[in-house]
Amino acid sequence: MAATQPARPIAVIGAGFSGTMAAIQLLATLPRDRAVLLCERGGRFGRGLAYGTGASAHLLNLRAGNMSAFPDRPRHFEDWLAALAEGPAEGVRATPAGTFAPRGLYGRYLTELLTDAVTRDGLPRLHLLNDTVSDLAPDPEGFRLRTEGGQTHAVAGAVLAMGNLGAAGEPRSRHRLDPWQPERLGRLHPHLPVLIVGTGLTMVDTVATLRDHGFAGPIVAVSRRGLLPSAHAAAAPWPIPALSAADVATLPALLRRVRREVAAAEAAGIGWRGVIDALRPVTDTLWRSLPPAERARFLRHLRPFWDVHRHRTAPPAAEMIAREIAAGGLSVGAARILSVVDAPAHAAVTLRPRGAGETLRLDVQAILDATGIGRVGETEDPLLRRLIARGLVRPGPFGIGLDAGPDYRVLGTRPGPRLWTLGPLLRGVLWECLAVPDIRNEAADLAGIVAAELDRAEAA
Ligand SMILES: Cc1cc2nc3c(=O)[nH]c(=O)nc-3n(C[C@H](O)[C@H](O)[C@H](O)COP(=O)(O)OP(=O)(O)OC[C@H]3O[C@@H](n4cnc5c(N)ncnc54)[C@H](O)[C@@H]3O)c2cc1C
Repeated sequence: MAATQPARPIAVIGAGFSGTMAAIQLLATLPRDRAVLLCERGGRFGRGLAYGTGASAHLLNLRAGNMSAFPDRPRHFEDWLAALAEGPAEGVRATPAGTFAPRGLYGRYLTELLTDAVTRDGLPRLHLLNDTVSDLAPDPEGFRLRTEGGQTHAVAGAVLAMGNLGAAGEPRSRHRLDPWQPERLGRLHPHLPVLIVGTGLTMVDTVATLRDHGFAGPIVAVSRRGLLPSAHAAAAPWPIPALSAADVATLPALLRRVRREVAAAEAAGIGWRGVIDALRPVTDTLWRSLPPAERARFLRHLRPFWDVHRHRTAPPAAEMIAREIAAGGLSVGAARILSVVDAPAHAAVTLRPRGAGETLRLDVQAILDATGIGRVGETEDPLLRRLIARGLVRPGPFGIGLDAGPDYRVLGTRPGPRLWTLGPLLRGVLWECLAVPDIRNEAADLAGIVAAELDRAEAA
């Protein structure tokens, strides 16, 4: 009798929050003979871009009460924090708007969850692969997964949890720096000006990182609208607005409806934050129910306004930015970059401030890209480029993220093997897929979908 082959594992590519939680939920849901191969190129599992920072000024953008890793255990992170022996010494900040923990501490929470998952039932079901996945080549039973380090693994399917794609590299300049490489920021001249492109949450972080690394010079931050993220404030809950079909037929109708709701909340002494938070459970449905032309209009005109209200900072971070602006260390403006000319030691940047006829020239030693979202069609990521070339993935709606079905299954130009995605790569399909409260739900849902699919395949 031929020996039965062990079941192929499911690969999860990327071990930030999305991949870590996908792996943990898969382990809890898949049969015990099915392993999970969690692959991470950055060497640190359970941290990703957001929670790998060691800077205590980098606080979570959400209150601790919203940061549980599990949808069915809402107090899990708060309880973990409360049980920490070190308590407030860990940099946890209690504010009138709620408790905000350092992001590095949240990374520790995730790595502990992962360690727990590796060791829980004594079975070696979670394998950590510390390498860059460079290819997924389909075969009749799934994929041959290949890594830059030369490893090959036969897997039954894969979950792409690779986070936000880096922005496409505009503006081109040899003085362009990645704000996520703090060691390079530490090598800047301490007094010569720098330019940050983008004025959102990444800009807030970048200012903190620069100051943390001893940079004392002027910082200029620009974006199309020059809007700064709002800060969290104490806000009573507001009920989910009951929206009619007419309310969601066009963007202006939806905007009018939301403004009416905000006026009602203001009149009740609750404020706009309650309304934006109340919309959260229905934002995805709203996004999908808007006609494509209206969604495109939203991206062109409203998105910066939505983002600064929806993605808010912890109050201490907002206070740091206000202090910087008041002291003249940081100036924030609305402007378009017209050109960048590189000189050996600086970049000459020509800007047109919004609404001005005149242009402005800035000589800066570095340009830091804090714009956030890159486009799949322009990606230089070798794995995604191979998957696109094979027709296994394609750009999502409006070129943002990957195209996928409601079951997280990635859609390509031809039917492909079992390939799923979650997290920021779903941004064009789902609108709310960036933050922990959304991703933890996706991870739990996805695990059930993957388990059911493998069950069906085995029964066939
Ligand atoms: C600075 C910052 C702060 C944030 N703060 C909050 C917050 O306070 N609260 C909140 O709810 N949300 C926050 N977010 C939102 C955040 O997007 C999510 O919480 C979550 O961290 C996204 O995780 P991810 O795993 O999808 O992506 P990432 O964290 O980017 O992880 C992706 C991982 O995939 C790895 N990878 C990529 N390609 C490969 C490959 N080919 N092979 C192997 N590994 C690969 C990368 O090395 C990386 O570790 C923040 C985001 C950022 C950027």
